[in-house]
Amino acid sequence: QEPIHVIGGGLAGTEAAWQIATLGVPVILHEMRPTRFSPAHHSQELAELVCSNSFGAQASDRAAGLLHEELRRLGSVVISKADEHAVPAGGALAVDRGRFSHDLTETLANHPLIELRRGEVPEIPQSGVVVLATGPLTSPALAEELRRFTGMEYLSFFDAASPIVVGESINRDIAFLASRYDKGDAAYLNCPMNREQYLQFWQELCIAEQTELKDFERETAKFFEACLPIEELARRGEDTMRYGPLKPVGLFDARLGDFRAPENQSKRPYAVVQLRQEDKAGKLWNMVGFQTNLRWGEQKRIFQLIPGLENAEFVRLGVMHRNTFINAPELLLPTLQFKHRATLLAAGQLIGTEGYTAAAAGGWLAGTNAARLVLGKEALSLPPTTMMGALFEFISSASPKHFQPMPPNFGILPDLAERIKNKQQRYGMYRDRALNDLNCWQVENILHNTIQVAV
Ligand code: FAD
Repeated sequence: QEPIHVIGGGLAGTEAAWQIATLGVPVILHEMRPTRFSPAHHSQELAELVCSNSFGAQASDRAAGLLHEELRRLGSVVISKADEHAVPAGGALAVDRGRFSHDLTETLANHPLIELRRGEVPEIPQSGVVVLATGPLTSPALAEELRRFTGMEYLSFFDAASPIVVGESINRDIAFLASRYDKGDAAYLNCPMNREQYLQFWQELCIAEQTELKDFERETAKFFEACLPIEELARRGEDTMRYGPLKPVGLFDARLGDFRAPENQSKRPYAVVQLRQEDKAGKLWNMVGFQTNLRWGEQKRIFQLIPGLENAEFVRLGVMHRNTFINAPELLLPTLQFKHRATLLAAGQLIGTEGYTAAAAGGWLAGTNAARLVLGKEALSLPPTTMMGALFEFISSASPKHFQPMPPNFGILPDLAERIKNKQQRYGMYRDRALNDLNCWQVENILHNTIQVAV
């Protein structure tokens, strides 16, 4: 049997290779370290955690915790080893990073169907079944090849992502639906500010604490003058934001009456923060032009000063960092196969999911499907009510025009049959539905329901 090639031995590639071997198919796992290092990797172990040692909240009624639990039930080797090497971290699943990566390296190296091959893969293999999992810091040669394969417009090298807010947490008594000059559908939620509110917001932004960009990120950031962080715009002058993303022109709350009427002229907002719909269901809203390097605590504190966002719940805060990712909605199916080459699959940060656990989840699905293709079975997609299914549904169906990476969160799950106001109760119900549906799916698709990690 021809082996499957998995390129990249990070979180996603390690999981993918393990799932392939577990299904009885030989696999070559290519990892460029130690012959070549990305600017953030320092060891030669598989699944190196490049920054924090945390996989996020443990509790299964939290988005990260639900993803852990789904992966546990599916026999994920990454989560199994994370559990084994967990260290105390309050409510989070954090690991002893050295032991975690070392154990995964040994475990994979000792599997008779896995060949661990060290060295950079500069090109996408032309034939056979291949899984791409080279992560946010994909080597320049392969990134160039990907750019050619996908068409340049489908590959990003820098993530300048604005915060995303849960629609239900936006105060609709204040925020109003409208498009600038009423063009097209009323596709934006607009948070109006009066002068006093704007000035307070501006002053807070000017003095807010920022995160430090790493040297290699500073180099890339230089090329992104067109998408300056919001705090940088603020520092350029009191009115810079009002002539940029917070421009108030052409936006008026129709609930206040006809904006042309002279008595309504004074009701025009001084500045407006716009939020654009992020998902098909309109449950998530992206703050337009709010890419930022502010510390996460500062983002919450300052963005909640915006009228209408006083109780905003953020599913993702703004980030600006180097991140190679493809335009998954344009290129991928929810099975993680490329639309134009079904034997080529991709997983991890490269497909626009965010975080260690999401990378392992992508690796699980891409690996499982790669093996299934070799075994002559059809590729699977997961129920959209599970966190894994919802994530892959999202990245393969979001708007390609504004596609930005997405972490696991409850906002991407389909609505529950009934409306539950209490957030904790609602999340618990999402969890129950997800695990129940995953169970049924496993029974129907038998393959994995009996597989346990044999380590
Ligand atoms: P990676 O884990 O990066 O794995 C990709 C692997 O592919 C690497 O081992 C690399 O050496 C290899 N590779 C690349 N190109 C080639 C090639 N051509 N041939 C062969 N091998 C190749 N996420 C979090 O959840 N928490 C954090 O704290 C966090 N901090 C981050 C900090 C930085 C600086 C960066 C860049 C990212 C951070 N992330 C964090 C995101 C993180 O990268 C992902 O969550 C996770 O590592 C993605 O897994 P992956 O398998 O897609 O990529």
